[in-house]
Amino acid sequence: MNKLLPTSTAGSLPKPSWLAQPETLWSPWKLEGEELASGKQDALSLSLQEQQQAGIDIVSDGEQSRQHFVTTFIEHLDGVDFEQRETVRIRDRYDASVPTVKGAVSRQKPVFVEDARFLRQQTCKPIKWALPGPMTMIDTLYDAHYKSREKLAWEFAKILNQEAKELEAAGVDIIQFDEPAFNVFFDEVNDWGIATLERAIEGLKCETAVHICYGYGIKANTDWKKTLGSEWRQYEEIFPKLQQSNLDIISLECQNSRVPMELVELIRGKKVMVGAIDVATHAVETPEQVADTLRKALQFVDADKLCPCTNCGMAPLPRGVARAKLRALSAGAEIIRRELAG
Ligand SMILES: [Zn+2]
Repeated sequence: MNKLLPTSTAGSLPKPSWLAQPETLWSPWKLEGEELASGKQDALSLSLQEQQQAGIDIVSDGEQSRQHFVTTFIEHLDGVDFEQRETVRIRDRYDASVPTVKGAVSRQKPVFVEDARFLRQQTCKPIKWALPGPMTMIDTLYDAHYKSREKLAWEFAKILNQEAKELEAAGVDIIQFDEPAFNVFFDEVNDWGIATLERAIEGLKCETAVHICYGYGIKANTDWKKTLGSEWRQYEEIFPKLQQSNLDIISLECQNSRVPMELVELIRGKKVMVGAIDVATHAVETPEQVADTLRKALQFVDADKLCPCTNCGMAPLPRGVARAKLRALSAGAEIIRRELAG
């Protein structure tokens, strides 16, 4: 990537209303069978086109073929029973009815590789593919088999590594693991969370990223944020170990967040995807607001290692709002590119 400050998104983008209910997480599909399969492909093409029109440099599938960033991957694995559901507390924050791990987990066939190939055929831009991280996966399940969060995480790491290698072979440039759970379970992150991620990226030659955020802009998350006080120092607990890890890129929430920007100094040397778009509000940032956040980040990230990004996925936002936010991201990055050139 030669362009300075290449822009990207954290992951999901809104789906068209003919495919799924807008502004809804886990929204059910509106199509079935063959129609659903081709509808997902059409939505993926459309999402790509919208990203390119908005000037996004590192593009993605917008997660158009998944209902949810964690559960869709898990649905494709053996050993998990989606009929037997239990209520668990997700990220220590809200209760959800989740599937049960009843036997050894395994991946019989690729989950997203066909989709990645399809995306690769349609663009020459670098592509980034998001997968759930092991810790966030175990946190979205009831485990009746391994009875150990760590053991199950290692199993998932092996499976993710199989998928990641095939995504790389399909032409994916950056593989990203979503680990919002890293912001909650600090001891586990340092004991084995980062180690399982390193297992998941073992042998990959493409770039690798971890996305650590404060979650989608849903009520459970915005309520939780209100309890975190005036300074959010969660990243401080895990950055030192992440800085030492083999991961290339760290994706963070910085726009309207109370994370003190100087914490980013703790991962100096890594590429940083700086969240400069707030996904918890429909208010569209001005390019100048985006530029302000990037300017602050540049005190702690070298310019050749900074990628302007969104705080998190935008699946729950109205489509027009998401499009406008992507344009603001590009325009804000361009302001800074001109400043750096001048
Ligand atoms: Zn996120």
